Amino acid sequence: MHEVRPEHTAHTAQAGTAQRIGESVVGDPLQCGEVHSGPAEQVRRGRELGHRVGGRQVEHTTTSRAQVLPHHLDHLPLRRRRAEVLYEQQRVERAEARRSARRLEADDLPVPADGLTDRAEAASAAAEREHTILLAQVEQLQRRVEPRFVVRRRHDGSVAVASCAVRAAAKKVERTRRRRHDRSGLRSDPRELDRTNHDLVVVGAGIQGAAIAREAAERGIAVVLIDSRDVAAGTSSRSSRLVHGGLRYLKHGHYGLVREALHERERLLRSCPHLVRPLPMVMPFFRDGGGSPLAMRLGTWLYGRLAGRSTLPRARRLSAHDAAAAFPGLRTEGLREAILFFDAATQDARLTVANALAAKKAGAHVLTHCAVVGGGGDGLYLVDNLTGSTVVLRAHHVVNATGPRADDLRRAMRVAGEPLVHTTRGSHLVLPPRSGETALAAFLPDGRIQFVIPHRDGTLCGTTDVDDELPGDETGPPAADVDYLLEALRFLMAPAPQREDVRFAYAGWRSLPTGAGPSGAKNREAFVVAEGIPLGTLHTIVGGKLTTHRSFAERVIAAIFPTDGPSPTRMRPLPGGEGPREVTDELWWRHGGRVSLVRDLCDEDTTWRERLCPHRPFLAAELVHALRHDGAVTFADSMLRRLVHSQGPCLEKSCLRNAHTLFLRERRWTVDFDFDAAIAALRQEVAVMRGEVDAVGVS
Ligand SMILES: Cc1cc2nc3c(=O)[nH]c(=O)nc-3n(C[C@H](O)[C@H](O)[C@H](O)COP(=O)(O)OP(=O)(O)OC[C@H]3O[C@@H](n4cnc5c(N)ncnc54)[C@H](O)[C@@H]3O)c2cc1C
Repeated sequence: MHEVRPEHTAHTAQAGTAQRIGESVVGDPLQCGEVHSGPAEQVRRGRELGHRVGGRQVEHTTTSRAQVLPHHLDHLPLRRRRAEVLYEQQRVERAEARRSARRLEADDLPVPADGLTDRAEAASAAAEREHTILLAQVEQLQRRVEPRFVVRRRHDGSVAVASCAVRAAAKKVERTRRRRHDRSGLRSDPRELDRTNHDLVVVGAGIQGAAIAREAAERGIAVVLIDSRDVAAGTSSRSSRLVHGGLRYLKHGHYGLVREALHERERLLRSCPHLVRPLPMVMPFFRDGGGSPLAMRLGTWLYGRLAGRSTLPRARRLSAHDAAAAFPGLRTEGLREAILFFDAATQDARLTVANALAAKKAGAHVLTHCAVVGGGGDGLYLVDNLTGSTVVLRAHHVVNATGPRADDLRRAMRVAGEPLVHTTRGSHLVLPPRSGETALAAFLPDGRIQFVIPHRDGTLCGTTDVDDELPGDETGPPAADVDYLLEALRFLMAPAPQREDVRFAYAGWRSLPTGAGPSGAKNREAFVVAEGIPLGTLHTIVGGKLTTHRSFAERVIAAIFPTDGPSPTRMRPLPGGEGPREVTDELWWRHGGRVSLVRDLCDEDTTWRERLCPHRPFLAAELVHALRHDGAVTFADSMLRRLVHSQGPCLEKSCLRNAHTLFLRERRWTVDFDFDAAIAALRQEVAVMRGEVDAVGVS
């Protein structure tokens, strides 16, 4: 886009320089005067359209803009008047074309195969299209420079002058677009964004990308959030689901990270209590185990100091007897003592969706099921995985928040340089729910920490932390991880859980900075690496934690778009975080303050008050809610990442059939209409998540 003066534009237009349709240049408002009387417009006024029909030249002159400016508009504000002029201009042009077509037909002139009427209609449609493109461009320009008018050259070299005062019209377009994408809950239609400019594009809708998009949108930055799959389809639905400072990181001296994480923990406990709840943890010390009670007492004391004024109680020492009472099932043989300390548990996928919803609510466009496949000077290339169509987006800043895929995207964007990311794999097993709310964080003889974390719908056991190259796509835990975790449980618990107790399993890949040293000692802080690309700058995120997503996003946006003042996200609750705490209602724990939306659905259709299936607690209304308000697109999105259950979705065919029938009625996008294919896709995704847990004899 170049800055030119109208005189210059008029000159080049007279010279008939061809330029692509939709290409626009911004004029200097001080040199311009009234839009309809500028020199460029004089060129436009003298333009004649000619059609050759049946060997005879038929001519008609386009009505000039000055002629069509109705006097009754004079009293309107200038901007509004310009918008009206533009509309009027197009209306008159179309009417003119239709009239000449009718004249030809009345004169009985031979009309060629494509027909003049067709051509008039085509011209009319083209005008309509141009107008839409123009409004989109105007809208983009207004965000940045507030120009007064846009000069645009057409195919034939003529010049169209459009005032940016079509703001009212642009707003109308935006309102319509918003209404349309509101219907989808979260996902925008990629076609509507094709060839549009934005301040920022964030690739990857895991927790980091969603939080960065939220931060940007709440600061008024025009941002698009993109994911090749669903929100939270990657590591952000495969973590240990802890919102914690990371006691073990103290050992490696990462005090800054621990302090930041503890403060964010406090913020999350207050701002989304339905998603982040306090978690008492027992840390036992066995004679044959690892960890020093003295060092850990010091560590938990420091942990409490770093947390500052926290709502969670301070750590305290427990006798072996009290430890066994606090965590029933703990092995008592060889148990010396324990420490009770507090952290918090969350639902990672829901936390990520809440961030994406907040971003959307603040004005971000969210494109799920769109993969970024590359980029050049003209934009970022996306493929819509639902339709196969390609879309180009432009933004000077692109954030690469693809987690363990960060180097793949750098390669696709043709960034030269060494890999930035090193991946490690962490596996979890899910056992049936336990009574009590206390978790276990215990040192194994090899010095690693194992967690046993009770959730309402299952008990999470993990994790391994093994260096591993991420294969083509994320896979589930290999048999070696399953064996390791079961062995760890045998060490910690009596009676020990058996293979057949395992209900579900999954593995997640961390992206850590490349470099020497054991993965456990590596800094879990997140870093940003800025690199030049033809479009502008690619900011690659390396590392990071679920817990610190908000504070990290605040730093990223402040670095890219320097602003004063604290971030709005510091105080604002996430969607669902507002309203009274209805802790006795199961539904509130799943939806928080947004539970009212689910209740409204129960009123809309009383059959939706029923459970979707007898094996999971979800109501039919919650599936409708997932599709209408939570941005689920495919059947698998709905069943895996909206109706989130620690033991995975129920895979009984009759239950899935019920859910699919409702899905078909409520889906927003034309996907998964075939029951068998939809079920196969869901089962496949679940099978991949479970990894080799089934191969070792677990049903
Ligand atoms: C086993 C494990 C346990 C953990 N436990 C905890 C914990 O208890 N507490 C904590 O605070 N942190 C924890 N973490 C860390 C935390 O989970 C991760 O740091 C975080 O989830 C990473 O999020 P992300 O957004 O960077 O990546 P991801 O969640 O992986 O998101 C990346 C997204 O990018 C998308 N993508 C990739 N390529 C493209 C492309 N070309 N175009 C479009 N989209 C693309 C993917 O589909 C994916 O959705 C854990 C990590 C692991 C591995």
